[in-house]
Amino acid sequence: MFSYEEIKQIRNQFPILKTNETNSIYFDNAATTQKPVQVINTIKKYYCNFNSNVNRSVHFLDNFTNNYLELSRKQLKYFINAKYREEIIFTTGTTESINLIAFCISKFIKKSDDIIISHSEHHSNIIPWQVLSQNNKANLKVIPVNSEGELNIRVFKKLMTKKTKLISISHVTNTFGILNPINKIIKTAHKHNSLVLIDGSQAISHITIDVQNLDCDFYVFSIHKMYGPTGLGILYGKKKVLDKFPPYKCGGGMIEKVNFKKTRFSGLPFKLEAGTPNIAGIIGTNKALQLLVNYSIIKINSYETKLLKYAIKILSNINGMKIYYNNSKLTKILSFNIENIHSFDLGKLLNNYGIAVRTGTHCAQPIMEYLKINGTIRISFAMYNTIEEIDIFYKYLIKCLDILR
Ligand code: PMP
Repeated sequence: MFSYEEIKQIRNQFPILKTNETNSIYFDNAATTQKPVQVINTIKKYYCNFNSNVNRSVHFLDNFTNNYLELSRKQLKYFINAKYREEIIFTTGTTESINLIAFCISKFIKKSDDIIISHSEHHSNIIPWQVLSQNNKANLKVIPVNSEGELNIRVFKKLMTKKTKLISISHVTNTFGILNPINKIIKTAHKHNSLVLIDGSQAISHITIDVQNLDCDFYVFSIHKMYGPTGLGILYGKKKVLDKFPPYKCGGGMIEKVNFKKTRFSGLPFKLEAGTPNIAGIIGTNKALQLLVNYSIIKINSYETKLLKYAIKILSNINGMKIYYNNSKLTKILSFNIENIHSFDLGKLLNNYGIAVRTGTHCAQPIMEYLKINGTIRISFAMYNTIEEIDIFYKYLIKCLDILR
């Protein structure tokens, strides 16, 4: 838990929270988090002082850049406790990480094989598998959710057979913030020799991740959701699995030798990282990781949980309030609807009072269709949000409801 002084210190590191003239409240952290000054300054310093490409030349600037980039890879390895540096692949985001895996794995998916996802996935973790299943004539199977929004593990166990080649599931759902029982899922999947991909987009800044302990085959996330720059993602994959992957994109940086007869590819991680990477972003990531390590994910988690519980408590007083879902599996995200109020109308009105919330289907239309709703209002917390902000939000929410009702 953070002290009042620590929260003040944290908020001071985020320029947007200070310079924002409208004094607005940012509760859309599940979409992207704000950036601390040390990330911004590091990116600026890279462009001002040592901008150059990586792995291309022998000059001193290239050496600098290369060292910093590999330092970030090393820090990311420690951050998620990967076994080898080569298991950390830089991508453009979670979306590309999942697409990369789907592309590379398609070679091993045969007709009538099964791929399993859940009903609550983000579109990024649905469509690549839908396309792959259609192309390879495989089956896409879906784990249903129960009335509490939790995965139906009994059905999941029934879906798993020797035909299951991959299960791809979010660690925390972006719609409702539900923590999925991934330990159980990974153990069950491995008993059936299936690979497991965990989409960690909504967990990475909130839960300590230890990929060796989890024993998942892949863990993917976006850096922009953990106080780092946009346009950068991570694909963690077990070395023994990634070693079997064919190249995904082809071009510079991923080859050992090219001639017109045959091209020899580099080993990991470069085999899967063709072209110039997001160097500035990768270098800036180091500072985002430092922030999370310095304040401790465990403390961040308990502080964000306190915010969430407080928000649930006061929102529950509102007439016609439906919270998805008021249970112990929730983390840092609160999704709700209010009877006879459209989420867009409420979101737009709250915006007039300088409060940023997310409305709509949150890139997860299947679960909305299943619940027969056209969306929700989603508030999501980060380490810099406060109880006072939730009080202000509540005050204006009541004002908006007076207007809309
Ligand atoms: N999966 C989940 C669970 C997400 O929350 C998001 C982002 N909303 C994504 C995937 C896609 O992330 P990105 O757009 O950064 O690739």
